[in-house]
Amino acid sequence: MEAECEMCGGNIAVPEDVIQGEILACPDCGLDFEIQSLTSGHISLRPAEAIKEDWGE
Ligand SMILES: [Zn+2]
Repeated sequence: MEAECEMCGGNIAVPEDVIQGEILACPDCGLDFEIQSLTSGHISLRPAEAIKEDWGE
């Protein structure tokens, strides 16, 4: 499967066994995305930067 990076439009390779909440990095711009939802044949990604801020130290 593949998903499109919403930042640069690059193709992000998505493993077939991907799970919701998994982090994928765009190979073109390096941005991290979290798998927000998985439906048949469609993957929703959201930028993971907001998550990092919650990690604290
Ligand atoms: Zn990208």
